[in-house]
Amino acid sequence: MPKINPQAPTDFTGIETSKPATEAAGFSAVFSSMKHVFGAMPVRRGLKSLLNLNQKGGVDCPSCAWPDPDGERSKIAEYCENGAKAIAEEATTRKVTPVFFQKYSVSQLSQKSDYWLGQQGRLTQPLVLREGQTHYEKISWEESFKLIGNQLNSLPSPDEAIFYTSGRTSNEAAFLYQLFIRMYGTNNMPDCSNMCHESSGSALGETLGLGKGSVKLDDFEKAEVILILGQNPGTNHPRMLSALEKAKRSGAKIISINPLIEAGLLKFKHPQELRDVLFGGEILTDIYLQIRINGDLALLKAMNKLLLEAEQKSGNVFDKDFIFNQSENYENYIESLESENLEQLSEACGIALDEIKAATQLIIDHKKIIVCWAMGLTQHKNSVVTIREVVNLLLLKGSIGIEGGGTCPVRGHSNVQGDRTMGIYEKPPKILLDNLQKVFDFDPPRKHGLDTVASIKAMSEGKVKVFIAMGGNFLSATPDTEFTAKALQNCDLTVQISTKLNRSHLIHGKTALILPTLGRTDLDLQINGEQFVTVEDSMGVVHSSKGVLEPISEHLLSEPAIVAGMAKATLANKNLDWDKLVANYDHIRDLIEKTIAGFEKYNYRVRQDGGFYLPNLPRERKFGTDSAKAKFSINELETIQLLECEYIMMTIRSHDQFNTTIYGLDDRYRGIYNERRIIMMNEKDMAEAKLEKYQVVNLFNHHGGIERVAEKFIVVPYNIPRKCVATYFPEANVLVPIDSFADISKTPTSKSVVITIKALS
Ligand code: SF4
Repeated sequence: MPKINPQAPTDFTGIETSKPATEAAGFSAVFSSMKHVFGAMPVRRGLKSLLNLNQKGGVDCPSCAWPDPDGERSKIAEYCENGAKAIAEEATTRKVTPVFFQKYSVSQLSQKSDYWLGQQGRLTQPLVLREGQTHYEKISWEESFKLIGNQLNSLPSPDEAIFYTSGRTSNEAAFLYQLFIRMYGTNNMPDCSNMCHESSGSALGETLGLGKGSVKLDDFEKAEVILILGQNPGTNHPRMLSALEKAKRSGAKIISINPLIEAGLLKFKHPQELRDVLFGGEILTDIYLQIRINGDLALLKAMNKLLLEAEQKSGNVFDKDFIFNQSENYENYIESLESENLEQLSEACGIALDEIKAATQLIIDHKKIIVCWAMGLTQHKNSVVTIREVVNLLLLKGSIGIEGGGTCPVRGHSNVQGDRTMGIYEKPPKILLDNLQKVFDFDPPRKHGLDTVASIKAMSEGKVKVFIAMGGNFLSATPDTEFTAKALQNCDLTVQISTKLNRSHLIHGKTALILPTLGRTDLDLQINGEQFVTVEDSMGVVHSSKGVLEPISEHLLSEPAIVAGMAKATLANKNLDWDKLVANYDHIRDLIEKTIAGFEKYNYRVRQDGGFYLPNLPRERKFGTDSAKAKFSINELETIQLLECEYIMMTIRSHDQFNTTIYGLDDRYRGIYNERRIIMMNEKDMAEAKLEKYQVVNLFNHHGGIERVAEKFIVVPYNIPRKCVATYFPEANVLVPIDSFADISKTPTSKSVVITIKALS
């Protein structure tokens, strides 16, 4: 059997670099959007999808989960450059047909880059790779579902199957999927949240009683201070820049905390704002703290200690009414804070004390404080305690559940929050299981299932024989690529429900299925007519998304229809009329309304302009904790100690990428072009290591005594703190150890991986 390469090939594509940009968006973003959209489809189709993108009753962007304005939306373009790229990627008219798979074997395809695989187009028909075969071939839907049903029912236990969910899955599909899986008998439901904001959910759930952010979009215009930690909104949540611009123009101060100086945090040029076009955009960040990787907990502790010192001096920094009436554990927390040493904390985060004091002064002087964060805070061993320290800061100021103040974990995938709300969770709450039992008259499994890391290990140990993925690119999104590849290849059956070709289709079980599904932009015609689905954004707004484009193939099924097909072929329990649910998704929403709190009058309210907000107690200054109070927490600081030859690596996205989807080879804002196999290094570190610009190196990780190698990376001198380096994922995910994950949340530590670097001759 020819070698199948789980990693992207190491061929270089011809690097070029320039000075990083100092502003984001502007007309270059418009040109880039148009280039991608009209390069992938005819103008008419492109315009139709863009003019409906993020419009009320239109298509919800399948990329990040930044909310749409509740009120007026731009009629010209209510989307950003990366939203347009996501549409280009999904609505392309390029097709990957069964003929394509006759031409290319799996092994040949595995020698292609992720970018090349994605550029081949949309999958058009169900495909099967039978045991011992080298090429995928077409298969009927009926035979596909039968194959899945037989395989699942042949397992000694339902716990020998894994059901993964990517964050693009709609509420309706996610609800049916979890229902099918629980009726089948397992809670093995890892999802992409395990790898992104699980740490946020754990910390916020514990301290505030709800694992979601508390602010609304219009809070930004009312905020006085906005802290942005471990987030690069210019690339990953670009419309957030509009909210930051409005906040600035309303007088807010912005403190950005990031190891890299990101253009999107410096200045925003809104292409639809005449003022920006004429006068050159809005400066965003007032104080930029270029922190050492994983220095956030030390910095937050230093800020909270400085707040305490100011409170002890003036007595009017803390919101004492809030603290003494609506929080607990304050005294213990203050005692722990008093024992902290500012100089040591400054040293640990790599920020001079004067800079920390200047930033903290803004917090001392103001009440309405929003703290935003993303993966730069959630993918470390100490992520949960770091986010708990964020909450401590807001509790001291009483900046929770007020206009212009609160928590804002910004979700990276359009419905990752909605999927969890629908019950996609390996640790389901008792209330959900009780309601499922009541509404559907079956006994759902109550034993907790496997999260992403545990699923990979179970496959590796041969304890799991079937892996089914609803969307996503599991292999490339997960850590320890070579280990994960072997684990997937240990399965008897792997099933990928996808819109486009990706590397997870090439690393497969003995038998493999690819099931092509409709995308967000596609018209979804069912027996009762055109259907819409619903999603939930980062701020808990449930809203509709309705496809507008003719699907590129008549053989595509919607996600709900695929779940129904698998369920009918697998479940002995025939009580549920899956076809009726697929015929009209209103029926699915009626069942969601009966099962999950907050969805009263679901079908009516979601048809109202912009949808509706789910209940959010912290937003109302109420807390769903066991004491009904917000909780201060004491968070021990552990710093990563490096040997002289070691560096701490963070994996990041380029500007031409969304998660594992590669839109292009450029990272325009960082001045890196036409190459993804790069490592950004501090020039002083390069000099010490005797490394030259563009020198080719191998990268190593030795966690747990296992050597992991990422071959052939190009050294790029970059403004990054000493002993810190950055690489792109998925190329560097091979270095992220499967056994290295956040305490409590088990999120892989993709933002702090200890590596060594060896020059190739
Ligand atoms: S900000 Fe996010 S959701 Fe909005 S258009 Fe851009 S990528 Fe899509």
